Amino acid sequence: MNRQSTHFVIKGGRLIDPASNRDGVFDIRVRNGKVDAIGASLESGNAIVIDAKDHIVTPGLIDVHLHLMKGLGAFGVDPDIFGVGSGVTTVVDAGSAGHTLLNVFRNYVTDNAKTRVLNYINLSTLGGVSGPGYSILADPRLIDEAKIEQAVEANRDIIVGIKIMATGGALGAQGLKPLERARRLGDRLKLPLLVHIGESWTKDTASVHVGDVLKYLRAGDIVTHMFTVHPGGLLDGNGKLWPQVRDAKESGVLMDVGHGLHNLNFDVARKVLDQGLHPDGVSTDGHRGNRAGPVYDLPTTMAKLMALGFSLNQVIEMATANAAKLLGRSNELGTLRVGESADISILKIEDRDWQAIDSQKGTIPAHQAILPVYAIRADVIYEPLPVERP
Ligand SMILES: [Zn+2]
Repeated sequence: MNRQSTHFVIKGGRLIDPASNRDGVFDIRVRNGKVDAIGASLESGNAIVIDAKDHIVTPGLIDVHLHLMKGLGAFGVDPDIFGVGSGVTTVVDAGSAGHTLLNVFRNYVTDNAKTRVLNYINLSTLGGVSGPGYSILADPRLIDEAKIEQAVEANRDIIVGIKIMATGGALGAQGLKPLERARRLGDRLKLPLLVHIGESWTKDTASVHVGDVLKYLRAGDIVTHMFTVHPGGLLDGNGKLWPQVRDAKESGVLMDVGHGLHNLNFDVARKVLDQGLHPDGVSTDGHRGNRAGPVYDLPTTMAKLMALGFSLNQVIEMATANAAKLLGRSNELGTLRVGESADISILKIEDRDWQAIDSQKGTIPAHQAILPVYAIRADVIYEPLPVERP
């Protein structure tokens, strides 16, 4: 059950807040929805006590890639399911809305959610209306720079970038021209591009080479689906990173997991990681069709990265400090600050053996599970919704 309280203390948890170099047992007092104090053994007085002993406390977790327009096609999911219902306080929609739907998104999704909902506006006017297998960028009239600009300027508070499907299926006869137009638009609006790679939906079209896509990306732009096994991914035929991928990473292009139904493959992940390329953001690519597996939620996706060799502190850093940086929101998200609105996740780490599953039903052994306990936004403490995890 969710609880509202104007005065509570989270007691005895291990706070891991990489952005402020905190890793230790701290209490956190929340008064009137704001972080009032962080310290060892705070007085609780008449405050409600949330016992976090043996739990991990983190800045509110951030899931940087999902599909959150509930009712839209086969994918749109209520943001609070992968959000506060999964121990996560910020979720980001990746391109459900083009410019014509952005106000609908704002009014019906962001403004109605208990979770903070941010948005990557789709370069294509169609956004997610037609489903992912359709050529949404193949007609040049489906990119309207002036209208996108208007929509962005009216919604800067929720817009964090521009989403592009860089697949042969989506680009069609336009080839790379939409990327060129996105580049100009991103520069003019000072917004990063979030680029989907991997031919996961349209297998009958020639794929786009990732090296050609990366030519259009700059520092701060994001490639999502870094571990895709589908054509158009980061590896060449011998399992080596394309040289352009290393160059892009060195120039500051960011890499996101984007698990989803199709795009987390453990064999690919191991090859990519063994060559030293690490994710900047961890995301579920959550939607209606993958909540019941293989994705489940962000904590489970983080635990899969642990099964691939990352430490708990590293995956928490990805889902807090690094995610905030990737969104250009480090000044407000990703770390706990006294005086700011409370935005906190509480997690339980279970030491047990389980089989982590990828998008192709491949498995690897995992030894720790991450379970959400609470998500806290301001003066409300949210309990997770049920999900059948592996
Ligand atoms: Zn997606």
